Amino acid sequence: MKALVKTDAGPGLELTDVPTPRPGTGEVLIRVLRTGICGTDLHIESWDQWAARTVRAPLVLGHEFVGEVVETGPGVADISTGDLVSGEGHLVCGKCRNCLAGRRHLCIRTIGLGVHTDGAFAEYLVLPQSNVWVHRHPVDLDVAAIFDPYGNAVHTALSFPVLGEDVLITGAGPIGMMAAAIARHAGARNVVITDVSPYRLELARKLGATVALDVRTGSLEEVMAELRMAEGFDVGMEMSGRADALREMVARMGPGGRIAVLGLPTGDVPVDMATVVTRMLTLRGIYGREMFETWYAMSVMLQGGLDISPVITHRFGYAQHAEAFATARSGQCGKIVIDWTRPTLPPGA
Ligand code: ZN
Repeated sequence: MKALVKTDAGPGLELTDVPTPRPGTGEVLIRVLRTGICGTDLHIESWDQWAARTVRAPLVLGHEFVGEVVETGPGVADISTGDLVSGEGHLVCGKCRNCLAGRRHLCIRTIGLGVHTDGAFAEYLVLPQSNVWVHRHPVDLDVAAIFDPYGNAVHTALSFPVLGEDVLITGAGPIGMMAAAIARHAGARNVVITDVSPYRLELARKLGATVALDVRTGSLEEVMAELRMAEGFDVGMEMSGRADALREMVARMGPGGRIAVLGLPTGDVPVDMATVVTRMLTLRGIYGREMFETWYAMSVMLQGGLDISPVITHRFGYAQHAEAFATARSGQCGKIVIDWTRPTLPPGA
């Protein structure tokens, strides 16, 4: 089968032929239809310090996908050939304290599909049945391909109640933009999102942000005055991994404010702990998705009318992977989807 492979410890990727995997006991074989490109894939493609530390070549990349089940291994129940599926990319041990308690997203031995084990940028993928999410209702294939990052957005956006609340999102990457749409869908009064990319701020407005602020040219103080916000934001969602963004967020929260932090910083982040203490703020780290409560919420919110499709801005065939990765790296895009059933798509697809 064709697969996009990190063949050696170094920059670059190669579209090459590798053996088609076989489903073992409790596993399913999935014909991949479409995949999404994640920031993680860019780190591995460029072979930065994190990738050199984490990844062992050869490796098939990719963890955001939708596909069709074509074969089930022995012992697989409730998943059938022909099912349209996405999958949870965090593979958990099933044996640690949190796994046994049903809190699998807190597994201490989580490994990553397409990071530690061969992933979804291929024509076929094998996944344990416990990681498969069957789409039981009609879903747009491009949206189904990005269920993994959509799940990050849902996990973050629903961490704290947002009904009627004023929400601040720092970082208008694809997950921040989707979180804006989800927060509005879940009943937030105002959703203010900040970034420094005019392209992405415009896209965030399309997804429902009340105000998309370029922090180089405007201030949150002005926005809060315009929105007649008296006491500060109620809920914060940090999506940028930037120290200055988290500091600014802490400074703009109202008393009792709650912050969900998904953005992953690369170094130490100084925080004004006196403000955290005296305003009685809550900071909560968010990683991955709850298995499978987040997935349930993702599916039913789409059925309830949530539309995240504007976040998908570019589509490529699998042979156009270099162009797809270059576009992702440019930042002049939302989510990028690769079609694994066609080598090339017409420009502007
Ligand atoms: Zn575990």
